Amino acid sequence: MTDLAQYPPGRDTADPDPAVPAGASRAQPGPRPEAAAVLTRALVRNYGSRAALAGIDLEVGRGEIYGFLGPNGAGKSTLIRVLCTLLRPTSGRASVAGYDVAEHPREVRVRIGVALQEAALDPRQTGRELLALQGRLYGLRRAEIRRRLDAVLDLVDVGHAIDRRIGTYSGGMKRRLDLAAALVHNPEVLFLDEPTTGLDPDSRARVWAEVARLNTELGITIFLTTQYLEEADALAGRVGIIAGGRLVAEGPPEVLKRSVGADLIVAEVDGTDPDALDRLRRLGVVDAATMEHGRVVVSTGDGPAALAPVATELGRTRLGVRSVTMRSPTLDDVFRELTGSHLDTEASPP
Ligand code: ADP
Repeated sequence: MTDLAQYPPGRDTADPDPAVPAGASRAQPGPRPEAAAVLTRALVRNYGSRAALAGIDLEVGRGEIYGFLGPNGAGKSTLIRVLCTLLRPTSGRASVAGYDVAEHPREVRVRIGVALQEAALDPRQTGRELLALQGRLYGLRRAEIRRRLDAVLDLVDVGHAIDRRIGTYSGGMKRRLDLAAALVHNPEVLFLDEPTTGLDPDSRARVWAEVARLNTELGITIFLTTQYLEEADALAGRVGIIAGGRLVAEGPPEVLKRSVGADLIVAEVDGTDPDALDRLRRLGVVDAATMEHGRVVVSTGDGPAALAPVATELGRTRLGVRSVTMRSPTLDDVFRELTGSHLDTEASPP
């Protein structure tokens, strides 16, 4: 996740003046505590002629957990790198904690914590040494580092392993250590790029619990990207769904899911019948009916009332119905309705 070689403040790709140390930038414009934690307007980032971000407008308030959800290649990492000042916008603008990422990258950097996907942790260091180094990179004094380490280790449970070499850590422990490293300088906004990708379900749940705690106990704004709809559901107060570099939907998970319908009736089928969907739609209790990959999905405002008529009508078609189940919509259903494809196979309902 945090790449220390790449991410000490004042020493990275977008900084025009790498010699200026952290903390030496206080003469810049005054802080704007009233400003949004994250604000982007018509934000575009191209790689060559290809747009990884094709005009993103979003606003994240202070104290929110905002989940940026999308499949592989959608543009999530690109956005987080632009917000963290590691990549410059091609056009449009972005500001974090009240500062423009292109005009005042150092002001942004001292106010954010970052845990990127590729953990570049030195296996020979102990966890405590890594955290102390991170504190020094941010210009903290020795006593301050000790205080911050105590505070951070209260929040992120690395246990006795903190004095062991990082080479002995499990994947989940490394993620939590990286989370702790991102918090050493007491940031206002925490960026997490796919914080649990590759973790087993237990480790994933522990990281979720710690992220939620950081938000409730410290009030820290958290901006996280994920390809797991459960992760967005479990953590985020608001979710932005991205596909092909565009924001296709945004809102609280519950609201997004309700937009698909109160209930879904899903039938697994073997055959085809070109008239089947129209027949279902004519039932009156059906809001929408779609068919894909051997599955008919019916959305309805009242599942219990619709189930019997839908099942009966399905039985009259030539679809060859194998099973009929009813369930609540997921964020994957929202994504499917908007884009016609699924978010990811691992986290999608069967
Ligand atoms: P995500 O994080 O959602 O998986 P990315 O932001 O990594 O998506 O990628 C968005 C798009 O930009 C993809 O099409 C990807 O192939 C492309 N891309 C990402 N990084 C680079 C790069 N360094 N050079 C060229 N294309 C890139």
